[in-house]
Amino acid sequence: MPDTALNSWESRAEAHTFYGFTDLPTIHDRGTVVLTHGEGPYVVDTHGRRYLDANSGLWNMVAGFDHPGLAEAAKAQYDRFPGYHAFFGRMSDQTVMLSERLVEVSPFTDGRVFYTNSGSEANDTLVKMLWFLARAEGKPERCKILTRKNAYHGVTAVSASMTGKPYNEVFGLPLPGFLHLSCPHYWREGRPGESEAEFTARMASELEEVIAREGADTIAAFFAEPIMGAGGVIPPSAGYFQAIAPILKRHGIPLISDEVICGFGRTGQVWGCETYDFMPDAIISSKALTAGYFPMGAVILGPDLSDRLHAAAEAVEEFPHGFTASGHPVGCAIALKAIDVILNEGLLENVRALTPRFEAGMARLAEHPNIGEWRGKGLMGALEAVADKDTKTPFASDLSVSERIANTCTDHGLICRPLGQSIVLCPPFIMTQAQMDEMFDKLGAALNAVFKGLAA
Ligand SMILES: *Cc1c(COP(=O)(O)O)cnc(C)c1O
Repeated sequence: MPDTALNSWESRAEAHTFYGFTDLPTIHDRGTVVLTHGEGPYVVDTHGRRYLDANSGLWNMVAGFDHPGLAEAAKAQYDRFPGYHAFFGRMSDQTVMLSERLVEVSPFTDGRVFYTNSGSEANDTLVKMLWFLARAEGKPERCKILTRKNAYHGVTAVSASMTGKPYNEVFGLPLPGFLHLSCPHYWREGRPGESEAEFTARMASELEEVIAREGADTIAAFFAEPIMGAGGVIPPSAGYFQAIAPILKRHGIPLISDEVICGFGRTGQVWGCETYDFMPDAIISSKALTAGYFPMGAVILGPDLSDRLHAAAEAVEEFPHGFTASGHPVGCAIALKAIDVILNEGLLENVRALTPRFEAGMARLAEHPNIGEWRGKGLMGALEAVADKDTKTPFASDLSVSERIANTCTDHGLICRPLGQSIVLCPPFIMTQAQMDEMFDKLGAALNAVFKGLAA
């Protein structure tokens, strides 16, 4: 039961904070979890209860909640130069260094970086860049944006239009010109008797058809997460990117990799496009970029888009876009340190070392008769609940199965995320084997309890 005393943290939270992406009946029922601090992968609430956060905050706190090096990098930069912008030909030295570093660790031979405060703004920024480029190159009709159903690209008016989720209907979104192709989820979307290779071929011919119908010269770009995150951790079907990349290339349509979740090691490689073996024209980065210690997003332009955009900006003297805190020196100092911590202080290695244990734990839970499939890559995964495993029939949505599982976990000190009918796990890169075992033990117990309750 929530603590409803008038001056409780729970009541105070509800009184004056407007909640986003929060199921309000659940809050009324259970109360808000108000947190005070974290220890490694754990967070602690105002009652002193500890939770293993198997979601790394919101995919981003990959170095845990008390990493000394990251906090020190922030403090040192606050002492040295606590804030600046990147307008009018001025920017901090940290910003210069981070751009060099991002191009260096990117899959590109060369390029340029533009900074934002979030992943949504980074997607929004790149769409504006592409619209700017289209006009500068005399093709103003080249403005449509292709994404996929179930894709998550953010919440600004443009990035929410890119997001392929029905909940954006409440805003009257998507805006015109944002087209959503099929979700390449073979287990759910494959037709009876269709092989995975045939499914992938069908996804590719759909893309060909959309390009033919709309006209290649009306399409500004195709944006894709290498593995869909907030759509429910959906890896592409086998060969998906190898099938669609050549089609896009042939039609001169840039392929943009939204690496906001995959970026910096989540899938076991620095970038998801490396894991799925394709070369994008630009990368969108955020979340793990600062290990969640500062709000920051980045558009990393590969050489071709970088050169063309630079030329377009020179032609009109400036690219009229930017945020007050773009390239913030403290954010850049933290990002430089975070990249170092992930790549050189063992975090990426730990992701790789833990992945077999993660896969084994997921596979074990997927043996449950009410888990239809487990899916994922590296240290991100989802378990899909089903009422009937053979027919893949979901539970009635009013049973709120995944919410029940997640709430049961929370009651036992584990935070995981319900997403549709699935439970999502994306543990921090610092997790130990013992903590991973704790995560699977608690989740397994919750699954058993909830499914048993439903059967009764
Ligand atoms: C979280 C996310 C975004 C949006 O980032 P915000 O910082 O929340 O605006 C965009 N793309 C992907 C793939 C994401 O996971």
